[in-house]
Amino acid sequence: MTPTLADIMAAARVICGVADGTPLVPSPHMSGVAGHDFLLKLEIAQPIGAFKLRGALNAVAGLGNVAGVTCCSTGNHGRGVAWAARERGLRAVICMSELVPRAKVEGIRALGAEVRITGRSQDDAQAEAARLVAEEGLVEIPPFDDARVIAGQGTIGLEIMARRPDLDMLLVPLSGGGLAAGVALAAKTIKPGIRVVGVSMDRGAAMHDSLRAGRPAPVDEVPSLADSLGGGIGADNRLTLAMCRDLLDEVVLVGEQDIYRAMQVLYHEDRIVAEGGSAVGLAAVLTGRVRPAGPAATIITGRNPDMEMFTRVVTGQDVVLGDLTVRGSVYQGGCVDGP
Ligand SMILES: *Cc1c(COP(=O)(O)O)cnc(C)c1O
Repeated sequence: MTPTLADIMAAARVICGVADGTPLVPSPHMSGVAGHDFLLKLEIAQPIGAFKLRGALNAVAGLGNVAGVTCCSTGNHGRGVAWAARERGLRAVICMSELVPRAKVEGIRALGAEVRITGRSQDDAQAEAARLVAEEGLVEIPPFDDARVIAGQGTIGLEIMARRPDLDMLLVPLSGGGLAAGVALAAKTIKPGIRVVGVSMDRGAAMHDSLRAGRPAPVDEVPSLADSLGGGIGADNRLTLAMCRDLLDEVVLVGEQDIYRAMQVLYHEDRIVAEGGSAVGLAAVLTGRVRPAGPAATIITGRNPDMEMFTRVVTGQDVVLGDLTVRGSVYQGGCVDGP
């Protein structure tokens, strides 16, 4: 069933005191670029360093007595599920592909969960999770296409609108669309006129392609600075495709060079360590692809990047992503042009 604002408000009560109340801070630099207040919702302040704890807590809270939980994940969802399972004393098995950065794998193990690395795509990881459900009786917590997960992520929208009801636009990093669907549902139910824009990387933008096609589109999974935005939306997507179609005003794409630059801006101007998937909202504005007409906010979704890659980006070195090399350029403040 498609979630409603009431489900998001119920989720807010579930996560209260654990995963709520992250800061919403102004970015002076980005406000200058945008010409209006530009705010950052800092989900990096979550106990797992990413917003996914909201949806995972809400989903796990809805379970009765179960043998344990499993999921497939590009990293942060697995961390959220591992955290939520530990809190309830449940076994957790997290299935991931080889593309997931090592830091994320270690973060999940540190929470006491088992990790299964299978294949080179989210689909392979998904197949392993399905096997664990069938053979070991674990309950799957989907990373995005689940009403409770969507409602949990939607609490971010509630918090933003409560603090800044004057906002004109929200820029939401977009992969499977659980975050965008939940946030857009909350924001637009409260304020129908607000613009909600999804932002993805241009290499393997699953939701963008699926919205175009009108059905789940297969994507190539290639290495990206925004690794947490990789993966398909699921061939039998039930909720997020329709919700993103109905609730998002627009989906824009940004390139790897744009994400590189936005990560530098976030680090050097706002002093924030965040993964590439968190920087796409800034990239959309920095490239001029999105021009806010009033106060705007984006969600800094996670702070769990591969630290070697992160260090290369913020120090201006080249980054090799499979067959693509992002040319380095040392950050020299707001007036420097990209290469
Ligand atoms: C999961 C994730 C996203 C995208 O969320 P979806 O619900 O899959 O669209 C964005 N940023 C980070 C850091 C994430 O972990």
